[in-house]
Amino acid sequence: MRVLLIGAGHAHLGVVRQAARLRAAGIELHLISPPVFRYSGLATGVLSGALEPAAGEIDVAGLAEAFGVAFHPSEVTAIDRDSRQVTLPDGATLTYDALSLNIGSRTADPSDLAAQADVWPVKPLSRLLDLRARLEADITRTGVCPNLVIAGTGQAGLEAAAALAGLCERRRVTPRITLVGPASGARESSTADRALRQTLERRGVVFMDGAVAGRGPDVCRLASGQDLACRMLVLATGLMAPDLVGRLGLATDRDGRLLTRDTLQTAGDDRVFATGDCAVIASAPRPCVGVFGVRATPVLVHNLAAMARGRRMTCFRPQTSWLSIMDLGDGTGLAQRGRWWWLGRASLHLKRRIDLDFIRRMGARPPVGDKSTR
Ligand SMILES: Cc1cc2nc3c(=O)[nH]c(=O)nc-3n(C[C@H](O)[C@H](O)[C@H](O)COP(=O)(O)OP(=O)(O)OC[C@H]3O[C@@H](n4cnc5c(N)ncnc54)[C@H](O)[C@@H]3O)c2cc1C
Repeated sequence: MRVLLIGAGHAHLGVVRQAARLRAAGIELHLISPPVFRYSGLATGVLSGALEPAAGEIDVAGLAEAFGVAFHPSEVTAIDRDSRQVTLPDGATLTYDALSLNIGSRTADPSDLAAQADVWPVKPLSRLLDLRARLEADITRTGVCPNLVIAGTGQAGLEAAAALAGLCERRRVTPRITLVGPASGARESSTADRALRQTLERRGVVFMDGAVAGRGPDVCRLASGQDLACRMLVLATGLMAPDLVGRLGLATDRDGRLLTRDTLQTAGDDRVFATGDCAVIASAPRPCVGVFGVRATPVLVHNLAAMARGRRMTCFRPQTSWLSIMDLGDGTGLAQRGRWWWLGRASLHLKRRIDLDFIRRMGARPPVGDKSTR
């Protein structure tokens, strides 16, 4: 049975490491993905200049080679479920018996701004690297921070604001950062949210109620009609499934995420599995957070092997509460789990330990004595 893993997201990195188990079940495994994976847990650490870009990268090609998985350094542009084949950008095709999607998400762009000059969506994460380089060059040239506007006051927007403030602080210039979002979305419902807002305001971040609706030279236009000075606009306007998902002809939720059953199979096609940001379990919806892909890995491996052997599948039950830690760009972090929270250095220390451990575990070299290698 030929299985195509599309995208080297959190779950598939773990599946690749268990390739031997899938081979033993009679599966020929292929991975189609860009050769480098950028890890979101360290993305804002890189944006703030605290970490170098390589710290958050995983060598996917090396990982696939180390675990004997056929690797295609590419991106799937189309999937034909009738003929069971996927197409790559060069026109090449690959057939499948089953496929699994773990292709992450893209930034929602309700006002069609992403393609305009000096607009930086938070996803793909490679854009944050470009943003850091561009901002550093600007600061070096002018000696001041240009006017930065961040659209969106969800977790990604707040963390991007903190990271950009951190980058300015590292370069010893005063941050000029305005965070624009609906007041109700400004996450002030808890004491943690208020503490975060106060911390950011102390560092020079301005919170503004509203929505970014347009762009002009050195300004962005708010839905109210007001113009706001803006050299660079960061879009943190929510995460949606990539367009490829919408072209599958399968059921999705309102963010375009594929609806799956507890077995991680899509509602309308047993041969198509999906996990991570691009999918949502219909009976247990969860937000776009990396941990769910990681936790889904054993279930995905089990169910692919079960399909090959004609055995019973198992169900994934995502946890109802999870630890989230924001990197605040100044050596501190905000950790939250349910109603519990802690803002300080210890939180960032814990985050770095967890994230760097993930990078180390997913590295190309299997740990000594790992029986899952060839
Ligand atoms: C600024 C920011 C910070 C964040 N910080 C955190 C955090 O600290 N912790 C956390 O849990 N979550 C965080 N998130 C959320 C996190 O990004 C996602 O929940 C997580 O990355 C989703 O993982 P995934 O496995 O679904 O996909 P991803 O990790 O996005 O991986 C998908 C992979 O698929 C590849 N791909 C995409 N399309 C194709 C295609 N057509 N063909 C082949 N390959 C393809 C991509 O290149 C990518 O390598 C953050 C998000 C943002 C924007």
